[in-house]
Amino acid sequence: MSAHQSPVDPALPAGRYAPSPSGDLHVGNLRTAVLAWLFARTSQRRFLLRMENLDRTAVGSDQRQIDDLHALGIDWDPPVVYQSDRVQRYQSVIDELTARGQTFECFCTRREILEAPSAPHSPPGAYPGTCRHLTDAQRDEKRASGRPPAIRIIADVDEFSVLDVLHGEYTGAVDDFVIQRGDGTPAYNLAAVVDDAEQGVDQVVRGDDLLSSAPRQAYLTTLLGHAPPVYAHVPMVLNDKNIRLSKRDGAVTLADLATRGIDTATVLDHIAVSLNLADPGERVTLVDLARRFDPTRLPTEPWILTDDEWR
Ligand SMILES: [Zn+2]
Repeated sequence: MSAHQSPVDPALPAGRYAPSPSGDLHVGNLRTAVLAWLFARTSQRRFLLRMENLDRTAVGSDQRQIDDLHALGIDWDPPVVYQSDRVQRYQSVIDELTARGQTFECFCTRREILEAPSAPHSPPGAYPGTCRHLTDAQRDEKRASGRPPAIRIIADVDEFSVLDVLHGEYTGAVDDFVIQRGDGTPAYNLAAVVDDAEQGVDQVVRGDDLLSSAPRQAYLTTLLGHAPPVYAHVPMVLNDKNIRLSKRDGAVTLADLATRGIDTATVLDHIAVSLNLADPGERVTLVDLARRFDPTRLPTEPWILTDDEWR
């Protein structure tokens, strides 16, 4: 299943793992990567790796992430795509949507959005529509004030439904969300959607903290003329305070754990046990896990990871 030797048909649909190279991957990230690989490879998909590096990055962390994924046995179909290489493409999609009358300039600050009266039934933090219907004169005045506008999509819907392997049909709010930030950077929602659509990604496996953004992304996918992917929002790894695991939680990367004498194979074993795919102490490879993998039997609760795990 791993290490397929022959070139993979680029027409095959794909799954993907898309980390931000802002530091080393921790056990929670690695577990999600293992799941994304398992979902893709056991459903005869290509598997792609994409570096979402439009934001804050840490020098060298992309290569360390690649090394750590390889160390676990995860392989992917080249090339590794870097979003920083695709900014022109994102820009042309934003221009295209604008030419279709599907966007507007937004001059609001975060504070103004939070304080604006919101429409009935709209979820907290949803864009209240302030700049959607500015007159030309109002827009000129705002532009003259010097604050560079963000670009928002004009959403024709209030909500959108997606299909999730673990959550079933999930319906969530769609507001006029940002596709280009005030500083000119394409927004995450836009870049990820354009990449998935153009890379043939029809299966998105990622942490369930992103479930609520899936309806927006799926809606944008349809605006771009593509079919939305099937999602699998997988449970997160939490620390002993029930907070999403982070590097502040001590030894949580392969490098940290190695200094404590815990090797990569052991980390993979623990990940496998947490997924009900292995017994404690059993030595497994990703190929073993692929043979046992059954999405319907995955745990739906988060994995609470404490330091005791490694004692
Ligand atoms: Zn606005």
